[in-house]
Amino acid sequence: MIRVEDLRKSYRGTTALDGLDLEVAEGSVAALLGPNGAGKSTLIRILATLLRPDSGRAEVGGFSVTAQPYRVRALIGLTGQFTAVDDLLTGHENLVLVGRLYRLSPAKARGLADDLLDAFDLGEAAGRRAGTYSGGMRRRLDLAAGLMTRPRVLFLDEPTTGLDPRSRRTMWSAIRRLPERGTTILLTTQYLEEADHLASAVTVIDRGRALATGTPEQLKARAGGARAEVVLADPRQTAAATEIMTRYGPAPTVEGETVTVPVAEGVLPDLLRDLDAAGVSITGLALRRPTLDDAFLALTGGDL
Ligand code: ADP
Repeated sequence: MIRVEDLRKSYRGTTALDGLDLEVAEGSVAALLGPNGAGKSTLIRILATLLRPDSGRAEVGGFSVTAQPYRVRALIGLTGQFTAVDDLLTGHENLVLVGRLYRLSPAKARGLADDLLDAFDLGEAAGRRAGTYSGGMRRRLDLAAGLMTRPRVLFLDEPTTGLDPRSRRTMWSAIRRLPERGTTILLTTQYLEEADHLASAVTVIDRGRALATGTPEQLKARAGGARAEVVLADPRQTAAATEIMTRYGPAPTVEGETVTVPVAEGVLPDLLRDLDAAGVSITGLALRRPTLDDAFLALTGGDL
């Protein structure tokens, strides 16, 4: 549904996109994960036909964003960090306005607005002026406005940046329900947890380039597999513990009372038995799987 090849864009000497490649399958939720300044907004603005690239190819639904921008615009919705909500109108009026601008009949616009307000937990607030909404409610209203046109592709540019954790969770559950409508979603985020939570495909982007693409699980695997962590009751048993743990994986590392070694999944019971048999007493034992954080740091060389 989205295809980007060798896309480049500079702003007077600042390179924002430096040969970016990206593919997003129809009906999927893809996340573009990267730090501030990575080029995420620039890409979204190019795909939404708001900005022209210097070179490279970008297509949405098979249409070129530069040669066929009107065809692209008919397919897409865009929800940005800065909400396009009119404070003087009620939530319901905001949505009906958007629907009418897109030439839905009044009845159709009202019906769709009601459905979307309910879907995003705004039913009770529908008759209140949007100026009285919380930040999280405004984001959800903005998301609903983006759906009034039933877009086939929805761009969400940092949909939860600046929200408190609870509003973020509510926004997440709203976004998670979107693919049921068959909408293809490309979201950008600085939050690893958000990409992990929402997306089936994640592209890690840094300095205008895609560093890696995969499922959250695949990216985590690139940061190495699982590790066993043993917390010793007595640091004087470090040597004994290390000796045993070497049987389970290469080069255990010691930090304070904790000895860590890369292991295969499912070895903890055996490891525990061996430690016990050797008289090593422990206060903690855990299997740690790599997080997307670990993956990100591994891919970017840790300069996040
Ligand atoms: P992100 O969305 O990942 O934070 P952006 O696409 O906004 O990244 O920015 C990428 C780079 O381009 C940054 O170095 C940023 O400072 C620069 N940039 C973005 N917009 C402009 C602009 N309008 N003028 C000059 N530089 C810009």
